[in-house]
Amino acid sequence: MMTYLGKIGELTLKGSNIHTFEKLLLKNTKEYLKDTGAKVSLHAGRLYIDCEEKDCEQVEFTLRHLIGITGWAQTKTSEKTIEDIQKTVLETAKEAVQKGAKSFKIEAKRGDKKFPLNSYEIACQGASLVYDSGLMEVNVHNPDVIIYVEVRERCFIYSVAEKSCRGLPVGCSNKGLLLLSGGLDSPVAGYRMMRRGMKIECCYFHSYPYTSIEAQQKVEELARTLSAYGIQTYLNIIPFTDVQMKIKEKAPEEWSTLMLRVCMMKAANMLAFRVHADCIVTGESLGQVASQTLENMNVTEHFAEYPLLRPLVGMDKEEIMADAHFIGTYDTSILPYEDCCVLFSPRHPILRGRIEDAEKIFASLEADELIKTAFENRQIKKFVCGKEVILKEEV
Ligand code: ATP
Ligand code: MG
Repeated sequence: MMTYLGKIGELTLKGSNIHTFEKLLLKNTKEYLKDTGAKVSLHAGRLYIDCEEKDCEQVEFTLRHLIGITGWAQTKTSEKTIEDIQKTVLETAKEAVQKGAKSFKIEAKRGDKKFPLNSYEIACQGASLVYDSGLMEVNVHNPDVIIYVEVRERCFIYSVAEKSCRGLPVGCSNKGLLLLSGGLDSPVAGYRMMRRGMKIECCYFHSYPYTSIEAQQKVEELARTLSAYGIQTYLNIIPFTDVQMKIKEKAPEEWSTLMLRVCMMKAANMLAFRVHADCIVTGESLGQVASQTLENMNVTEHFAEYPLLRPLVGMDKEEIMADAHFIGTYDTSILPYEDCCVLFSPRHPILRGRIEDAEKIFASLEADELIKTAFENRQIKKFVCGKEVILKEEV
């Protein structure tokens, strides 16, 4: 039997409703592990998973992606006696030495106040077999390895704690419709909202054959990756070629990108209504490109019938890239298949569009029917915990 422990972060700040959040965290964890025999439980700020060795890979995948824990570790367990703790600390120290550690310290926590030694005493006495064996020296300021000892309803001893996603468990804060393009930003925007507990459904607009099949496959891959964090997501693929052609035909050239965003917003309104989303999420970041000046963002927002959330609005590219690396979307996002075509990109895009002009230009397109048809012709894909689930013909 293997045991893993997850540390719960922000949740512990919740007051009397903490149980609702904990229940959700448990439910989410079980969803990842439903095809395994792993046992999941939660006590006093810790998530525990017991599993057989064959399920370790899936358990570790879960702990790397589960939103709502700050860190995790594979842990040994011992009897609740200082002698057994000492033995287990020694085993852990031996493993650390094999990996090259030369110094250590112990961090002990006594969660069970009935245990006769306090945290400091557990730390001092727990290390005694390691001193006696001369395996490693103690260094409390800058040790190569920290050995954690937690005395709770069981005793846990572990040395390597991995960082996790933090945040609030997915499902505690409404549902957002993410406009997901193939770029770096929008997947990170989706992840950021998931970390605030939001369920995310995705929507991608393509203009085949002006944009390639590879561009679409890239977005599918991004949605799959996001589902590893969001537990479940749908990707709605909306064919927007006719709308783009209409914009090219009728809108002033400098307005074409902004009008495309407006038309996307119109379709997003329909989809948000259909899938019961409570808001729309984009990857916009102030000033990043011409369509993302405050004035132009205001134009797009004007056409949104739902709250428009832009979690990256104040982030710079380096911060966004760091997140993309962390969640594993970076390599896919930088693949060279564009989600828009130069044919439709204006040479001199308008920088400070006015809402009155946008309304007039949008009306002159007479694109409402085209947008509705595009919405109705959407294709839907489903992803659960990082895997595509093939859907039967249904809408
Ligand atoms: P990204 O890196 O997310 O592609 P970007 O920096 O390329 O963003 P824009 O192309 O101006 O910025 O797009 C702004 C936002 O509009 C995107 O973050 C995304 O939310 C949405 N968006 C743009 N193109 C599409 C598309 N083809 N399908 C769905 N959403 C899109
Ligand atoms: Mg883009």
